[in-house]
Amino acid sequence: MKVTFPHMGNLYICVKGMLEYLGIEVVLPPPCSKRTLTLGAKYGPEFACMPLKLNLGNFIEAYELGADTIMMAGGCGPCRFGYYAQVEHAILKDLGYHYKMVVLEPPDKHITELTARISEITGRKSWLQVIRAIRYGYLKSRAVDEVEMLSYKIRPRELRMGETDRALAQALKEIEKADNPQELKAAALRGKEIMYSVAVDPHRPVIKVALIGEIYTLLEPFANFNIERHLGRMGVEVDRSLHLSEWINDHLFMGLIKGIRSSKAYRESAKPFLNHFVGGHGMETIGSISVYARQGFDGAVQVFPFTCMPEIVAQSIIPKAAAAADMPVLTLIVDEHSGEAGLITRLEAFIDLLARRKHHRAMGQ
Ligand code: SF4
Repeated sequence: MKVTFPHMGNLYICVKGMLEYLGIEVVLPPPCSKRTLTLGAKYGPEFACMPLKLNLGNFIEAYELGADTIMMAGGCGPCRFGYYAQVEHAILKDLGYHYKMVVLEPPDKHITELTARISEITGRKSWLQVIRAIRYGYLKSRAVDEVEMLSYKIRPRELRMGETDRALAQALKEIEKADNPQELKAAALRGKEIMYSVAVDPHRPVIKVALIGEIYTLLEPFANFNIERHLGRMGVEVDRSLHLSEWINDHLFMGLIKGIRSSKAYRESAKPFLNHFVGGHGMETIGSISVYARQGFDGAVQVFPFTCMPEIVAQSIIPKAAAAADMPVLTLIVDEHSGEAGLITRLEAFIDLLARRKHHRAMGQ
């Protein structure tokens, strides 16, 4: 069995680590690229959201490298994600790509189904080994998130342009290379040291912007045109409202690990404006605006794929939530027709607005 799975930012580091820890052969799709999206857009339904198209492209590219089994998350609720695995499987079959598809449904809804599906991948491995592998995958995701979080602070203050990006790539490589929990511990430390070695001006004034919205577009740099990097180079310190390790703790570990930020705070803060689940991270998008405003952020950027239903609902409520929090919010919608230059122009205009607003406030106007 040669298992593949879709890309979503640095998710591959933790899933690959977890599967290889169990001795399962992994075929990693090449990083998302123009080709991946072209393939997905060619064979996917036109009005499907971008994650489906990029996933489809990932699976075609992984098949070319020899993958024969797909491991994919499922879901339930208003968002279409719940049936994407089945749709993608049917499209791949029609195209002549013969894959075995293993769909992992969220444990809070179908725990016995989930355990049966995990066994399809892990075979005769004991549950103790599987639990150890999941823990190991989580530790990798935490190590990745910690170096990414450091990059948010370092990039807008770096003295030599591009040094943070090079350090981050090197730190992620260290974490990816680690083969067992002991090595991972040392690699996580080395990763942080690499990040701290970037020369910075700690006194440089920065604008603080929260990145909020749909999970896939937030985590996958190809889908968001590397928004963190662009903002950082404009002198903006970002914070992403979602990190993989936080999602794992919230949804797989039911919040058992303490001291990790939880999306529960966002959902609770959404209540005056949105009182029920609308799928995806729609509630979190609304609630995060007031949470970030309280933390002193200057603005927020909502990112989501064209036709994403939960985020369209959130977008319609944002004007009220943003006015109540007194925080400007820019919405960016991406699909296969979006261009990087247009995105940069809109970001520059928004950051300019935030900088003027901050300046006027400091002057007491
Ligand atoms: S949350 Fe939005 S973009 Fe993500 S799968 Fe659902 S509809 Fe598509």
